[in-house]
Amino acid sequence: MALHPDSRAVHAGRDDLRRLGVHAPPIDLSTTYPFESLDDAVGSLDAMMAGAGPTEAGGAIYSRLHNPTVARFEEGLAALEGAEASVSFASGMAAITAAVLAARTEEKQHVVGVRPIYGTTDRLLTSGLLGLETTWTDEAGVAAAVRPDTCLVMIETPVNPTLDLVDVAGVVAAAGDVPVFVDATFGTPVLQRPIEQGAALVMHSATKFLGGHGDVLAGVVSGSEGWAARLRQVRILTGAVLHPLAAYLLHRGLATLPLRVRRSEETATALAAHLVGHDGVGAVYHPSVEGRDPRGLVGAQMSGPGPMLSFEVLGPDGAPDGPGAFAAADGLLQSLRLATPAVSLGSTDTLVQHPAGLTQRVSTGEARTKGGITAGLVRVSVGLEDAGDLWDDLRRAIEAGRAAAAEPTSD
Ligand SMILES: *Cc1c(COP(=O)(O)O)cnc(C)c1O
Repeated sequence: MALHPDSRAVHAGRDDLRRLGVHAPPIDLSTTYPFESLDDAVGSLDAMMAGAGPTEAGGAIYSRLHNPTVARFEEGLAALEGAEASVSFASGMAAITAAVLAARTEEKQHVVGVRPIYGTTDRLLTSGLLGLETTWTDEAGVAAAVRPDTCLVMIETPVNPTLDLVDVAGVVAAAGDVPVFVDATFGTPVLQRPIEQGAALVMHSATKFLGGHGDVLAGVVSGSEGWAARLRQVRILTGAVLHPLAAYLLHRGLATLPLRVRRSEETATALAAHLVGHDGVGAVYHPSVEGRDPRGLVGAQMSGPGPMLSFEVLGPDGAPDGPGAFAAADGLLQSLRLATPAVSLGSTDTLVQHPAGLTQRVSTGEARTKGGITAGLVRVSVGLEDAGDLWDDLRRAIEAGRAAAAEPTSD
């Protein structure tokens, strides 16, 4: 039966519960698993070292190799993503690292990265820590940047913090034979499924919307069974596994993911419209805002504009950048009463952060300026509060921030 994604979100990874005679999925905390015979154990171990998933492998053997609770979450997410398989990790960065290591071969040690990309990903690929060479480019430069030794093209969409959309199908075409990796954290599988556009690997920081309640750190990569086998091999060797309690919470989070994302998206769209009309605000970044989705990717690649937005609060001098704007943004963050000033995103409550000072600080200065990240820019992860209450909070905080910035300081 072909189910609507909302139904899959509720039921995927739960097919055996009725047979087990339970309603909530059991949590399996075993670190080791008894085996029937040495022959069985050797067979399972060999299969898992070769990247086999749980069903082909037989016994679990040891929790770094396989855990049934973790596998449930992976089964649920793969169903939402439209992927053959998903492989989860201890954090989003562990997932990104594993994807790169899974793609690299002896002959192919070059990666093309499309900027802007998540600050820590930028740092990871620039640092040389993984022993790879990275060429940075923009979306239009992908075809020219790809070389015979390129193992992966890496993009993110929507982009943090400007919410620009990258054309996944366009990048896939430009990359030719080279697999394309998409960090789809901001879009969630509710709004976009990059595998349908030809991406080989789709990654989420599950810490964000998938978990959805700000209490789980996790990452997950989805793709073909062939990719999943490589990812499992990397996971066994590097050990950045997801804890089963975290997997349980993530799996539970999937059931409400469509509702949460669509509600936050609706509120984000309303807030963006209010912000556009406010005279203390400069640029407003949300794909629903006129001119912010020039290629019409909302409605095509992505079903809606999404739950994340950013905007510039203007300094007392009317500028979106410089010390006045910085002070206004700082004042705004300090004046919030309902929303929480904090990094991260995708929680039930609204989180507001300052990219230039916090998340984008780890990118190079050049990457920051090019990405439009001014001192007055604040990013909002819209939660599930009432839209009117949120606008009251934001409007008051914008005005309070600007007033604080206008006060003469003693020095
Ligand atoms: C948070 C985030 C990451 C990193 O994930 P962690 O779970 O913090 O390791 C990667 N990409 C994007 C877009 C993110 O928002």
